Amino acid sequence: MTKVTRFAPSPTGALHIGGVRTALFNYVYAKQNKGKFLIRIEDTDLERSTREFETNILQGLSDLGINPDEPPVRQSERSDLYQKAVNQIIESGNAYYCNCSKERLDEMRAAQQSKGLKPQYDGKCRNLALEADASNVLRLKTPQEGELIFHDLVRGEVIFKNSELDDLILLRSDGTPTYHLCNVIDDYEQKVTTVVRGEDHLSNTPRQIHIQNALGYPSLEYAHLPMVLGPDKKRLSKRNAVTSLQDYFDQGYLESSMINMLARLGWSKGDKEIFYIEDLISDFRIQEVQKAGAIFDSVKLDWINNHHLAALSFDDFEKRLMPFLKVVGIDCSQKSNGKDIITAMRSSQPTLLGVAKDLVPYFSSLSSYDEKAANKFLRGSESVLEFVQRKLNGLETWNEESIDKVLKDAQTSLSLPTPKLNQPIRIAMTGSTQSPSLGLTLSLFDVAEVNHRINAALEYLANNSS
Ligand code: GLU
Repeated sequence: MTKVTRFAPSPTGALHIGGVRTALFNYVYAKQNKGKFLIRIEDTDLERSTREFETNILQGLSDLGINPDEPPVRQSERSDLYQKAVNQIIESGNAYYCNCSKERLDEMRAAQQSKGLKPQYDGKCRNLALEADASNVLRLKTPQEGELIFHDLVRGEVIFKNSELDDLILLRSDGTPTYHLCNVIDDYEQKVTTVVRGEDHLSNTPRQIHIQNALGYPSLEYAHLPMVLGPDKKRLSKRNAVTSLQDYFDQGYLESSMINMLARLGWSKGDKEIFYIEDLISDFRIQEVQKAGAIFDSVKLDWINNHHLAALSFDDFEKRLMPFLKVVGIDCSQKSNGKDIITAMRSSQPTLLGVAKDLVPYFSSLSSYDEKAANKFLRGSESVLEFVQRKLNGLETWNEESIDKVLKDAQTSLSLPTPKLNQPIRIAMTGSTQSPSLGLTLSLFDVAEVNHRINAALEYLANNSS
């Protein structure tokens, strides 16, 4: 049978990391089984759902290449389907109307809790044969004895006691269907075969299976994924991590890096760390997903992004970098050797925004020096700066090799350890102690600019001598 999976987000917030991981695993599982991947917008909570969030979710997935095989559907537009199914449940005798007041239910729950019992509906209206009425809810007649057992692709056999599942509400008193009901009907109507979702839905599954049974629907395959945790091992949230996918794109993490990172949240293949979507489609095994929570590690994401950035051709890298250069105010065309500068600096930082920021001193004049670096290395370095400046000005050929020779000779002449010679010049040129090898760094500027920056450093030292 063709496998059909779905990602069923509620558009009550922007697309977040945990959701993308769920969508990815659904997508990969469908693709590797030559099946279909669908998206369903679960927007029955009209107060909290917005079209902006829906667009954000669909756009984020599309940016990642996680595209559905059919146009997404919205639950808010499928009331007819739900109504038909509800009529069927009522006719089968598997549901009943209940007129218990909120006060009664609250009291009942409080009494159960005070006895240390799990709060649940006591079935008062189960056999009263009440009619539909403006204040009545419709409840499912959940079997009261026995167990509900299902096989989970990740967790193996999962068992729930029916006595612990109460008669859940299918229709609210205003006649609108509840989340569980819509979810089950849609999975059936969309011919879904496999439900891959977060472990937070595990306890919903037996309830939903009872609804399926009441409607005579075929059973589904389930895989409940471990929760995504923050560095503090608590559930990933805005409090312990950046959770919005867009925020990662805004920093210059590549789509392929996000996919790589998310795939490793709860799944691994030996020591292999770098995966592209095609690798996942061939290598991923849902049965290998772990049960324990998976920690989202931003250091690892940086490492992964470094790899993915390094794998880009120069042209692709430059294309991806452009929007970030704009953010930091660099116009690359203003320098004839712009491409050389980018080549030298492309692995300076793990994100495109970081690289763009590091490029600023190469395209614009320096406005300040890193204070700590200046205090440590620039202070007292006047004679070094002047010596190297003189030697550089004597060069006939201006390239990395000839500059390297000047630096080496200067080090011998002055008998200085490398940092004492290199760091003052590096700070004079870039404002900080971080740059590619010094010969290469200097070669990215012309002699006039090198003179200008060394003079500026000397001036700074003259004005800041204590
Ligand atoms: N709409 C649910 C959520 O956003 C997902 C339900 C499901 O995947 O079955 O958590």
